Amino acid sequence: MADDTTLPLRQIIERHGLWAQKALGQNFILDRNLLDKIAQIPGDLHNSWVYEVGPGPGGLTHACLKRGAERIFVVEKDPRCVQALQTLVQTYPERLDVRQGDALSIDEPALLTNAARALGRRVHVLANLPYSIGTALLIRWLSIDPWPPWWASLTLMFQKEVAERIIAKPGTTAYGRLAILAQWRAEARIVLRVPASAFTPPPKVMSAVVHVTPKSAMMDVGLRALESVTAAAFNQRRKMLRTALRALNTPCLPLIEAAGLDPEQRAETVSLEGFCRLAQAYQSAQS
Ligand code: SAM
Repeated sequence: MADDTTLPLRQIIERHGLWAQKALGQNFILDRNLLDKIAQIPGDLHNSWVYEVGPGPGGLTHACLKRGAERIFVVEKDPRCVQALQTLVQTYPERLDVRQGDALSIDEPALLTNAARALGRRVHVLANLPYSIGTALLIRWLSIDPWPPWWASLTLMFQKEVAERIIAKPGTTAYGRLAILAQWRAEARIVLRVPASAFTPPPKVMSAVVHVTPKSAMMDVGLRALESVTAAAFNQRRKMLRTALRALNTPCLPLIEAAGLDPEQRAETVSLEGFCRLAQAYQSAQS
């Protein structure tokens, strides 16, 4: 097989018949400069391992290899892409590990993170994610217990609206459960806005790359309790807390009072700290 690792990605796509499949969320990035820019976001990759979901024709994978990542593990659902990646595997046999599979059901510790930890390597996650599974993966990576997680950073492409929901502040319509989970456990920021024209084929929406690093110190509250109170509050986001929190099936006025909140407040105006105090009060009421 000819070495096509430095060919224009468009040619790799043509050579391997990778016409985009909508069901797999395939919007490829073919601009190697943009891919290099994304690969720079986590910082120095030497002595680090990378986990990439959905490498497609391998442009971002190649950019991470060029930036010195010691090992890269990729999980790709489409067998055509797995086939197309074989040239890259032959060029970097010691550094690239390609698995065909569904990223939603991969056991990351078994695949790579237990080994990375044993060797003292940090794991950076990079992905131009299919929009359909991006939020589910982020929630999964933010919901790891115990904390801190196995990843040192997440550099993820989302559709712009989802990126804005991750970093949203109280008092905005984008503020909700995702913002609270993300900001409780991590520092998250939008580092790059990417127009639809950067993708082949172009999606209907704008995109943005979000960089997430885990917090080591955060308010001490159980994940399940925080999930329960934010679900109750935001499932009826237009209702006052005293009404919305009835869904908890626990007398809610004492919880609201213990958290120092106003029963007439709506979820949208409660800060992250307010929700953590509410979850702590809920947790105490349950035990
Ligand atoms: N990283 C490539 C790029 O930047 O050009 C491709 C990005 S494309 C938006 C998303 C990729 O994820 C596709 O290659 C698609 O086949 C793959 N994919 C879709 N669903 C997946 C899943 N559940 N698990 C793993 N890969 C998936």
